[in-house]
This record gives sequence, structure tokens and C-alpha cells, in this order.
Amino acid sequence: AGPRAPEPQAAPSRAPCKPAVFIPVHRTPEIQEARLKLPILAEEQVVMEAINDNPIVIICGETGSGKTTQVPQFLYEAGYASSGGIIGITEPRRVAAVSMSQRVAKEMNLSHRVVSYQIRYEGNVTDETQIKFMTDGVLLKEIQKDFLLSKYKVIIIDEAHERSMYTDILIGLLSRIVPLRHKKGLPLKLIIMSATLRVEDFTANTRLFSVQPPVIQVDARQFPVTVHFNKKTPLDDYSGECFRKVCKIHRMLPAGGILVFLTGQAEVHSLCRRLRKAFPYQKNSTAGGEDDREDSVEEMRKFKSSRKRRRVLTLPKIDLNNYSVLPPDEGDEDRDFDSDDDAAGSDLDLDLGDGDSGEDEKSDSSLPLYVLPLYSLLAPEKQAKVFRPAPAGTRLCVVATNVAETSLTIPGIKYVVDSGREKRRCYDRVTGVSSFRVCWVSQASAQQRAGRAGRTEPGHCYRLYSSAVFMDFEKFSAPEITKRPVEDLILQMKALNIEKVINFPFPSPPPTEALAAAEELLIALGALKEPPMTGRLKQQLAAKLSCPISPLGRVMATFPVAPRYAKMLALSRQQQCLPYTITIVSAMTVRELFEELDRPAGSEEEAAQLKARRARFLQIQKVWAGQGPMQKLGDLMVMLGAVGACEYSGCTREFCEQNGLRHKAMLEIRRLRGQLTTAVNSVCRDAGLYVDPKMEPPTEAQVTYLRQIVLAGLGDHLARRVQAEEQLDDKWKNAYKTALLEDPVFIHPSSVLFKELPEFVVYQEIVETTKLYMKGVSAVEPEWIPALLPPYCHFGKPLEDPPPSYCPGTGRVRCHRASVFYRVGWQLPAVEV
Ligand code: ADP
Ligand code: MG
Repeated sequence: AGPRAPEPQAAPSRAPCKPAVFIPVHRTPEIQEARLKLPILAEEQVVMEAINDNPIVIICGETGSGKTTQVPQFLYEAGYASSGGIIGITEPRRVAAVSMSQRVAKEMNLSHRVVSYQIRYEGNVTDETQIKFMTDGVLLKEIQKDFLLSKYKVIIIDEAHERSMYTDILIGLLSRIVPLRHKKGLPLKLIIMSATLRVEDFTANTRLFSVQPPVIQVDARQFPVTVHFNKKTPLDDYSGECFRKVCKIHRMLPAGGILVFLTGQAEVHSLCRRLRKAFPYQKNSTAGGEDDREDSVEEMRKFKSSRKRRRVLTLPKIDLNNYSVLPPDEGDEDRDFDSDDDAAGSDLDLDLGDGDSGEDEKSDSSLPLYVLPLYSLLAPEKQAKVFRPAPAGTRLCVVATNVAETSLTIPGIKYVVDSGREKRRCYDRVTGVSSFRVCWVSQASAQQRAGRAGRTEPGHCYRLYSSAVFMDFEKFSAPEITKRPVEDLILQMKALNIEKVINFPFPSPPPTEALAAAEELLIALGALKEPPMTGRLKQQLAAKLSCPISPLGRVMATFPVAPRYAKMLALSRQQQCLPYTITIVSAMTVRELFEELDRPAGSEEEAAQLKARRARFLQIQKVWAGQGPMQKLGDLMVMLGAVGACEYSGCTREFCEQNGLRHKAMLEIRRLRGQLTTAVNSVCRDAGLYVDPKMEPPTEAQVTYLRQIVLAGLGDHLARRVQAEEQLDDKWKNAYKTALLEDPVFIHPSSVLFKELPEFVVYQEIVETTKLYMKGVSAVEPEWIPALLPPYCHFGKPLEDPPPSYCPGTGRVRCHRASVFYRVGWQLPAVEV
């Protein structure tokens, strides 16, 4: 044989991987005919040769080209599952995992025992399973139990373009697992499938794959789609605009299915109801229509009745070890969430205006409309309906969330109505609170949605926004990993037992300094087990960067907030503090709670007005901060008081205007409290919190506990007032020293503690104007510090002076915590244990 071109990856793996068998599949003629129309069928040979010859292959193809349903079948027929190995396919969405396993089983004429699915808490996998669809979270769990994934012959990562955090982490892990398996002589094939061409993050990343994997492009037949932009962009009532658009299409345009993109379950149901009312279809509304809604009402009722009363605990004080919120062995499994999952929303969140009242919405002249909802949590039988032809004499109209964008291809769609929005998990960079919000989609998503109209014939896409608005959309949505605050990302990865986060091959890596700083914070919070402080500094630092997660960290990882706040929540089961902590965390997240009364006035009259309002506001602030012990919670008590008072008055615009609160901010806090309460209820199954905006004021004792909780969470934001003898020059008058900065910092003049000057305080953030100011300040009793912040109480001299590191957010150099404590001479009183 002549010399072969070097093929470092392919050559060695070729022999053991090339299956010699062909497993026959008995498909029905109808299925076979439908398959033959799929573009990927024409590429079967190319796809299979690439897979046989390479350990890692990337397949790109338009949605609907047959990737998800056909590639597993190719692999099965080629014998990849014949000798006991499993073909595993991961999906970021539950709905896709279930629906695709059913479809593939049907196409192949195989039972669910062989083609199965596994999503969190549910699945039909058996010993005979050969093709297994699962959510990415499920596979991550399996990697923790068996790093080599020895059960699997092939792993397909589907919908990689979505760049969900789990998908990215999976790709990073698999980039190491594949060579390891190869070394062991048990080769594993990795196939990454994506709907768009933007795969450079995977191919051009040499840290990820040492050899560039081949990219196979599957061209789909796509008919032209005419895109119509709205002249105006409705800001609030896009759901109503969808309704009007569907009515118009249905009345005026030729036959063809309609697909509407909305953001969440509640919206989908509400629009379905309106449309069914306007164009009634008798059989539909009894057999499969209204019952969807009734089901969800029933679910909501069950959910509500499952809430138990609050329990009364009488512990003496906040106990750092009291954070266990989960029944044993139920850990942090719920990681496979769906972005259109309303379970994370709350009662407060449900849209109220579904405009059921419109009598004029009835139309007798049109055909009946066969209206079907589609979203992630819809029962599988109901999901399957969208794939069946609409009853004769009706027009199909599917009202969907973004699951219909790339995960599921609905046949027969000619008109797409695109609201331009989706529900996305959003992270607040500063606080790390994550919540579901309605956001504009990316241009790539809008393009995908439009494409759904041109699958079988030329179609139309109606965008309910102007072309100017479209031009402002981001081109692609950024990978979730890069949007998440780093501390939170690390905590999540440690919860998955990925310890050396710094070395992790991220497809889109976060900055290394940020990773190191975040790790340090997590150690200080007690979320990671601190390694022993022995040996040389270098070894210490290395050990620090691969600390395992602690039990407290596991609990913290289940809360959808930044680690500092997660710790506060984890400790708040005690003394019934949870509702207050939730409120404080929500309020800290919302920027500019209070109206700006310091702004420069346009006229003298306005100046006088502002002055008067400011005086009144200061008075009110004092009331909210309370007296004596209450006041020591400081600005956080003001926030709590403001939210409490506002909710008691019904959160009206009037109340807010009178009291210097920003109405919008108060509504936002209410929304966040609802979301956090629901999230906490789902984690602390017996917490039994109500999603009731009103709450009783905390007792004096509770305020003390809250201060302790806040200290435990914001420990690295501790500051001590500089004593008279230390005030070297004027610069240090009334100044505080902090653990993170070398410069003097001051209590912000807007703080209720501005004049009090407590010896020890914790702050929410530092802002830099003329000086460095602490905002969100609350007072701390010195004797609490050793009890609640043991990692910060380093009394000895550090072994070596560690290098200062960058302090994120402030642009300043920060000092190592141990050395600062030593240098500024924290005088911590001895405590009796
Ligand atoms: P891709 O993954 O490339 O987006 P799919 O494999 O999901 O493509 O879909 C291929 C085809 O199979 C589409 O035309 C789709 O309509 C069809 N299909 C998928 N699921 C079902 C189902 N449950 N019933 C009928 N047709 C389906
Ligand atoms: Mg697919």
C-alpha cells in the first residue's frame, strides 16, 4: 500500500469503530416515503463516512432537514447499537427529548423499550434501550457517576446552536472523554448537531479539540418566505397584536397553517382561548381544546393546595450549620429547565389581560380554526397533535413558544406570526439574581422563525415589529455561559463535581482572573471546602483552584441567585426569616428603588419643590428604618420598610409618587419576589411560603437575625470605622477600611446610617463619585464576626504576602483578605462558644 496522508485522529480509531453489520429496520411505506423527502437522507453516506472516519463530527443543517430523527437511525442501521452500546442523544428541552424518542420509535417500528427517553424524574428506559433521548442535564448527571460514559457508543449533542450552559459544559467534558475512551480502546463517537452555521466556537477552539472536526453541511430545500414588518412596534400588547394578525390572515388569505410565536405557557393559553372563541371549532373545543386550559387550572389548584402553612421555629439565633433545605439524596437535580417554563414564574406573573370580553371577536363567516397550543410542559399526547393533519374543513393554527423555533418542525405551516419576543433566563450581573424575562429575540432566531413558513411551499412571515427594531436585535444570542455571573457558573459546575474549573475547556471561556476571584469568594462563603493552609503559597493557590463543593454549597447551588444571596436564603429557614430575605434580595437587585431627589432643578420653584420632597423623604426613610434595634439593619431595613408599606397600600402609583419611590421599581420587586418565592418553595419543599406580596413587619428579634444573615452572606463586604488614633490625615476622617480596598471608603450620604457611623458595617456595593461610597449599609455587632465569618478571621500573620489581585467591578487592586485583616489590625473580641 502507498503511503497514507497522516490522519492522526482517524487512522487508529477506524478499525474498532467501523461496524461490519447492517441492522435491518422495517419501516412502513408511508414512513419510508416521508423520510425520502428529508434532505439528510441524500447525505446519509457522507454523514456515515465522516462518522466512521472521525471521532468527532459536526452536522449543520436547516431545521426540519431530518437531523434529530434520522441520524440516530443511520447509526442504528450501521450497527452502532448492536453490540450492547447505546446511542445517546441530548436535547436542551424536555419536550424535544420526549417527542423525538416517540417519533423515532414510530419511524423504526420499534417499541419504547428500545427507543426510549429520560428527562428529570421521568423516562421509559429499559435494559433493552438502544437509542436514548435525554435532556443535557440527565447526561451531565450520568457523567458524574461514570466519567467515561461506558454504556454509550455514540453521543449526539443536538441543538448545539442554542448554547445552553449544560450543552457547553457537556461539549467541554466530552472533548476530554472522547480521547480517554480512545486510549482505553473503547472508542466513543461524538456528534454535534446545530441548526445554524455559527460553529467556529467549536471548530476553531484548539483548547477544545486538538484536531478540527469535520463539518457536514446539509442543505434543506427552502421555499421563499416573504417577510412583512409592522410599521409600528407594539410595546406591551403584542399578544393582542398576534390575535388581530391571525384573524386577518384567517379571514383574508388562502389555505395554509398558521404558526404564532409567543413567550410562555400563560400567554399561549390565553391566545388559544381568544382564537377559539372567535372561530369556534366544535369538536376541537370539547375534545382537545378547552381541556388544555382546564388541565392547567387543575394543576394550579393542586399546586396551591399543596402549600402548607408556615412552620414556627424557635431557634435562639442564626446557626451557620442550619441550611439543609432538601430531603436527603434529592440534591441538585433539577438542572434541565426549559426557558419557556412557567413553573419558574409565579401567580403574580400570570398575565391578567386576556381580553376575553370582546364580543366583536366572533366571526361567523370564516372557516373554523383548529387551534393548538405548544410549549414545553404540555403533556406529550397533546404535543403530538401538532404533527397530525388538521381536521377537514379547518385551518391549523399552532400557538407556540420558542420550542417551535428549531426543536420541533410542524408540517403544513404557511404563515408565521412572530411577536419577536421570547422568555429568557436573564442574569443581573451585579447581584446574580436570575429570573425569566420577556426579551427581544436575536436576528438569527427571527430568521429561524420566518423559515418555518417555507417548508412545503412559499410562505409569509409577519413580524410584529418594525425593521428598525429588527436591526437593533443582537445578531446571535450569546452563549448562556458568558452571560451568567462567574461565581454562579462556578458554583453550578462544582455542584456537578467539576473541580478544576480553571482548566475546563469551555467552548467560550470566561476570563481566567474572574474565575480565580470567584473561587476565592466561594471559599469564603463556605460553599467550597477550603484546602489546608500549609505548604508553599504556590501549592496553596493551586489547591485553592480545585476545591470541592461543601454541603452548604450544594444547597446554595439550588437557589437562582448569586452565591452571596443564596447563602442568605439558605440560612433564612430559621426564625421565619425567608420572606424578608427574599424581599431584601429582590430589592437589592432592582436598581434605583428611590426617586432621584438630588437631581439639579430646572427652576427655583422646582428646586424648592425638590427640597421639600427630599425633607419629607428623609423623614419617611427614618420611619421605614424604624427605631433602635430596627434601625441597625440600616438601608436594608429601609428597603424592607418601603416594600412592606408599598404593598400594604396596594403598590399604587400614587403611593409611590407621594413617598419618593419609583413605581416601576416596586412592580419589578414584586415580580422578583414572586419568582424567588416560587423557586424557594420548589427547593424547600416544606417551606410553604405564600406568594403573597403583603407581609407582617419583622419583629425586633427577627431584625437581629436578618442582620446576622446579611453578615453571613455579605461577609467579604465588611468594613470597620477607622478609630481616632488611626486617622492619619483628613482623608481618613469618618472613613472605613474594607477588606477589599486599600483606600478609605465612606457611608453614602443617602444612607440612614450616615450619621450613626457604626463601628462595623456590611455594604451592598461601593460606588465611586467624589469618594468611594458604600451603599446599602447595615450595622454589624463585632462579636458576630468570628461566629458567622470564620474564614475571615485569620488572626495570625500570613505565611507569605500574597500578590494583590484585581477587584472586579471597581477597577482597583484588591488585597488578599488574610493580609488585609492582618495589616489593618482588626480587633475582634473573643467570643465564648
Ligand atoms: P431537524 O432535527 O433537522 O430539525 P427533524 O428530524 O426534527 O429535523 O424533523 C424531520 C421531519 O420529521 C420534519 O419534517 C418533521 O415535521 C417530522 N417530524 C418530526 N416529529 C414528528 C412527529 N412526531 N410526527 C410527524 N412528523 C414528525
Ligand atoms: Mg432537530
